[in-house]
Amino acid sequence: MKAEIIAVGTELLLGQIVNTNAQYLSQELASLGIDVYFQTVVGDNTSRLKQAIQLGTERADLLLFTGGLGPTQDDLTKDVVAEILGRSLHIDRMAMDNIERFFKDRKVPMTENNRRQALSIDGATPLSNETGLAVGNAFAEGGKFYILLPGPPNEMKPMFEQQAKPWIMQHVLTHEFPIYSRMLKFAGIGESALETKLLDLIEKQTDPTIAPYAKESEVTIRISTKAESESAAMGKLDVLELQIAARLPEHFYANEDVPIEKTIIDIMTERSLTLSCAESCTGGMLMQTLTTIPGSAAVFLGGIVCYSNEMKEKLLNVPHELLEGENAPGAVSAETAKVLAEQVRMIVDTDFGLAVTGVAGPAYSEGKPVGLVYIAISRRHGETKVYELHLKGNRSTIRLRSTKTVLYQLWKQLKLNETRTDK
Ligand code: ATP
Ligand code: MG
Repeated sequence: MKAEIIAVGTELLLGQIVNTNAQYLSQELASLGIDVYFQTVVGDNTSRLKQAIQLGTERADLLLFTGGLGPTQDDLTKDVVAEILGRSLHIDRMAMDNIERFFKDRKVPMTENNRRQALSIDGATPLSNETGLAVGNAFAEGGKFYILLPGPPNEMKPMFEQQAKPWIMQHVLTHEFPIYSRMLKFAGIGESALETKLLDLIEKQTDPTIAPYAKESEVTIRISTKAESESAAMGKLDVLELQIAARLPEHFYANEDVPIEKTIIDIMTERSLTLSCAESCTGGMLMQTLTTIPGSAAVFLGGIVCYSNEMKEKLLNVPHELLEGENAPGAVSAETAKVLAEQVRMIVDTDFGLAVTGVAGPAYSEGKPVGLVYIAISRRHGETKVYELHLKGNRSTIRLRSTKTVLYQLWKQLKLNETRTDK
């Protein structure tokens, strides 16, 4: 089902008003699972409006018009739509009563042109206007659907919500199968790299469809399909998910919309594993992120924010020679990260110890550049892994990316060790 929104109004083309109606309708249609392929804006001009209707009818199944239902000569949407589709107009009795009542209540004479607002296309369902005077219309013609709504948003929105939307559900969507979607989540890879790996699948997608979204440090793909039943849909989505997962085994972490820390907590809870953290440049962000997840208490036992060198020495036994002195590697170094991870793991007595130390900026520290970050993962009966990162961005992005990278590397280790016993 493809829809096109046609906003009518010269003020829109002159830039005097913003086309918020199109934004609203696009969101509403998306939530109904209807694809909007085009949004058109056309002035109050008969021949150009005709062109827009003809083009829209060729390329869409559902055309939604807003604007041009008012009383004046430049309000011509109904006249032009009726003319193109070879229908006539008549006065809708209810709408006319409403208009007459409006003027009577206000004790002002009704000018003749106000009758235009009661015009309805022959055979169309009238959509009554609860907040204004012009009646809307909805009808089907030649396998296509047409909906005419007023321009003022305070009239258009209630008319859409209360009348056009139910009409669409009843007349337009009845023969369509419902949409079933699934979110696939990836970490440690950017949107463009991920798209490249899936390019052929994305290019030939028809059913299910594949839509990528990028957020800070994670990428989501939504796969969707239309099917007569949930089980039929799940079958189709399972096949595509397996194909995608096989291409990105080191990045695909969940088939629901959860952050990677949730997946980590789930895996570790299931395997009865625990962890602790030592954080310098992230100042507790890693621990904050982990403890946001309900149930994290089974996995995360505690940690230390060791921001100063003194605290690194005093609380985590980092040797003074590592931190200070002419040839010392310094606080931001692979050596220090390794000691931090191992020490916190031993002190808190956990299966995993995570550490982050780096330069978040804005200024150089120890003569090291902003964005240089070391992270370390120590595990019981295992080797400590240290990773050197060169991150881009400002202070808060560097801190966030450091946190997300530790989580990503931890998840990868957990995944690679799926088959071996950890204890
Ligand atoms: P009226 O009875 O007010 O003449 P109408 O249905 O004829 O309503 P227009 O004349 O096209 O609609 O527009 C009336 C007003 O509605 C505009 O001046 C503007 O404030 C608002 N409007 C129209 N179209 C849009 C749009 N696409 N997005 C946001 N606002 C709009
Ligand atoms: Mg008008």
